[in-house]
Amino acid sequence: MTVIVCNEPTSAREVQCQRTRCYLPFPIADGQTAICPWCSDHETYERLAPDHFARGIVEGAMQMCRSEFGVDDDGVGTAVWIGDGPETVLESRLNRCNIYLGRKSNPLQIMYSGSHEAFHRVCSPCVGSHWADEMFAVLFSLLYLERAGQGDHADLNRLGLVAQAEACSIEAMFAVNGGSCPDGLYGRVYILGQSLIDCIGWDRLKMLAVTKSADGRMDLAAWLLSLLSHPGFDGDRFCRFPTFSWWV
Ligand SMILES: [Zn+2]
Ligand SMILES: [Zn+2]
Repeated sequence: MTVIVCNEPTSAREVQCQRTRCYLPFPIADGQTAICPWCSDHETYERLAPDHFARGIVEGAMQMCRSEFGVDDDGVGTAVWIGDGPETVLESRLNRCNIYLGRKSNPLQIMYSGSHEAFHRVCSPCVGSHWADEMFAVLFSLLYLERAGQGDHADLNRLGLVAQAEACSIEAMFAVNGGSCPDGLYGRVYILGQSLIDCIGWDRLKMLAVTKSADGRMDLAAWLLSLLSHPGFDGDRFCRFPTFSWWV
C-alpha cells in the first residue's frame, strides 16, 4: 500500500490511473466505468456498485480480517475498482481507500487478490510494502479461501507460491521495507509464514500484525518481547528458528 501525490489540476480526483499515477479528471459514481484519458489504449476503471460480486468479496474479506485480527473499523471509506491490477491506495483528502482489482482476473483470482488487499486495507500502514505485511496478506488470503470453501484453490495457490519462492532470496525478502515487491516475494514470505505457524502457531504469529509502533508500522521488537516473556512459551525452540537472528 502506498500514498501517492499527484498534482493533476483537476477538481474531481476520485481514482488514479495505475500506469501514469494521474487522476481521472471527472467524478465517477458507484457502478460507473471511466475511460482513462492519459493512456493511449484508454483502459477503463470501474467503480463497483454495492451489488457487484467483487465488491462483496472485498467487503466480506475486510469484515473477516477485522474479526480475525481484532481490528476496529477506522471510519475511513473504501471504494472498490476494477482497474489494472490489485493495489490499495489511501486517498487522504477523500478520507478513503481505493482498492483496485485486476480487470483480467476471474472470480477465483478476485477472491485471492481481493482478500490480500483486504488485509492491507485493514492492517497495513500506508508506507509501502513491508515483508511482514506481505506475509500476513498472503497467509490471510489463503485462510479466506479455505473459509470460503475454496480449499482446492488455496492449495493451487500454495503450489504456485512454493514454486515462485526460488526467485527471491531470504536476504531480498527481509530487505523489503517501504519499497516495491521483488519477484518471488510472495512465495518467500509464504514459506516463512508457514514455518512460523508450524513453530509458534497462528494465534501467536497473528499478534505481530496488530503490534504497532507509534508510526503505525508493525513493531517486531515489541511483539518478540511479549512472546518470549509469555509464561509457558517455548522460547528456546523459537530462538532456534532458522531466520530468528534476522528478526532482532
Ligand atoms: Zn491510464
Ligand atoms: Zn500485498
